[in-house]
Amino acid sequence: MRDTLVLNASFEPLSTVTLNRAVVLVLQDKAVVEQSHPELRMRGAAVDIPAPRVIRLCRYVRVPFRRQAPWSRRGVLVRDRHRCAYCGRRATTVDHVVPRSRGGQDTWLNTVASCAEDNHRKADRTPEQAGMPLLREPFEPTPADAMLLALGADEFAALPDWLALDAA
Ligand SMILES: [Zn+2]
Repeated sequence: MRDTLVLNASFEPLSTVTLNRAVVLVLQDKAVVEQSHPELRMRGAAVDIPAPRVIRLCRYVRVPFRRQAPWSRRGVLVRDRHRCAYCGRRATTVDHVVPRSRGGQDTWLNTVASCAEDNHRKADRTPEQAGMPLLREPFEPTPADAMLLALGADEFAALPDWLALDAA
């Protein structure tokens, strides 16, 4: 699958994203198409546009020097798509896998989205001690995720399934 280059509003190259993600950013008016693949089109129920090769963000985003997303509670909820790491239901809180009282830090790898109920139930224990295994391991967001987070994306990974790539 081809990736799309993303430029900041200042035309500085920032990152690459998948074609689908690039189209979504354009459809959400967060980016404009600077260059497209002449021979490829993205087609969906109400969409038929040339596949973007380069897009430019409408708003300037400040991306940290290391190109890694700084840890934040909101970022953890976005990364985990607002799903509880323990039961999969909607999450509104952030849980420390190793509790802060046991030296656990505010880091991407030590925090997960959690529903309030599970967060309360787990309390000051590790998942092993609480008998609450993680449904998935926490991970560090990629530089592309960091950019999407700076843009105010609600999710990192969601790709619409209604878009298809066709040769024009
Ligand atoms: Zn839960």
